[in-house]
Amino acid sequence: MPSNKPEFFETLLLKGGTVVDPSSNRNEKADIIVDGDTIRQVGTIDASSFSGKVIDCTGKTIIPGLMDMHVHLREPGEEHKETVESGLRAAMNGGFTAVCSMPNTKPAIDSLSQIELLRKLSGGMLTDLHPIAAVTKGREGKELTEMGELAAAGAVGFSDDGSPVLNSGLMRNAMEYAAMVGRCVIDHCEDPDLAGGGHMNESLQSTYAGLKAIPSISEAVQVARDVLISEYTGCPVHIAHVSTEESVRIIRNAKARKIAVTAETCPHYLVLTDEAVRTYDTNYKMNPPLRSAKDQAALIAGLKDGTIDVIASDHAPHHADDKDLEFSAAAFGIVGLETSLGIVLTELMGNHQFSLVQIIELMSANPRRITRVPAISIQQDQTASLTILDLGMKWTVDSAAFMSRSVNTPFNGRELSGGAWGVVNNHQVFVK
Ligand SMILES: [Zn+2]
Repeated sequence: MPSNKPEFFETLLLKGGTVVDPSSNRNEKADIIVDGDTIRQVGTIDASSFSGKVIDCTGKTIIPGLMDMHVHLREPGEEHKETVESGLRAAMNGGFTAVCSMPNTKPAIDSLSQIELLRKLSGGMLTDLHPIAAVTKGREGKELTEMGELAAAGAVGFSDDGSPVLNSGLMRNAMEYAAMVGRCVIDHCEDPDLAGGGHMNESLQSTYAGLKAIPSISEAVQVARDVLISEYTGCPVHIAHVSTEESVRIIRNAKARKIAVTAETCPHYLVLTDEAVRTYDTNYKMNPPLRSAKDQAALIAGLKDGTIDVIASDHAPHHADDKDLEFSAAAFGIVGLETSLGIVLTELMGNHQFSLVQIIELMSANPRRITRVPAISIQQDQTASLTILDLGMKWTVDSAAFMSRSVNTPFNGRELSGGAWGVVNNHQVFVK
């Protein structure tokens, strides 16, 4: 049984890997020496003159550390689903050196003391935690949080995720305040009146399944509103978990008009459609719901042409008690940290001819740019935040081996090609 704990080191030599890093224009075989949390040397290094820890990376690919900007860690309040520690271990196991946590915990992350709590809980872990704070106090959609203080304390963005910011006037103020403190608002776009308390995508499939349905426009009308507010105020907005063709179209048009909108989608929307819901397996229940093949094709085209900037997992752990229920009674959401990279490599690189450089933009560089987390680069004197890939690895998803506390995945048993082999960050290394 491999250890689930990373190892601390003073100096580390990663020997014989291929380094791919668009920020330093590298795509070549190179050894890397890491000194604590800093890259000391990149190039050809004689291992016999090195006295620290050596890891043979022959056949592996070393890229800038991946960051997942949309995860739910459930602490405080629902530690039986996930804790900060178990969630960050799951992130490490999935190849991420950083995550952004959403504030819809119990209580919500809307005050300095909550940010401080997350800092304490994540201290000393391999994977960095960058908290996103709530837009409104208690995520109630009424009164803005103290955004300036929260940003100064380390909040990298603002979101009421799980819920939209419904009041358009409040959304305007939120975008303006967030921009003033150098952050962006991340919106969960959903018009609840259109969504109508549905459980799956509105389509022929929902007719077959006989389930209350959520039309694609329930997402897109709010994306359109956010784009208009962003254009009017000149402030940035980031659209979370884009799932529909209409949203992609609106965002593409907005970007053509130089509006400061960015967007993410999630791995499950790229490989699953609403047809899967006909099994009534509640591991296919998430919000936004799985959409149609047409939406899926639009998302992939949007990733390819840069309309969608980021792939994030929307990791949403739930206990069996919330999932082993009738479809209409089950909780929304699936875990994703430990399958995200494998699905992206298999689907986008394997089936849609994306390059590894494009994947690095979507899963490392762009999430950092949008949240203003410092950029990373595989160069001397830069921060050592590295993900080591095994692109040739064939593996089968086994939820029993997850480091997450929850196993609510639709991908158990799925065969994938390529994945994370190791990560280096914060003086620590973890390899499989
Ligand atoms: Zn959401």
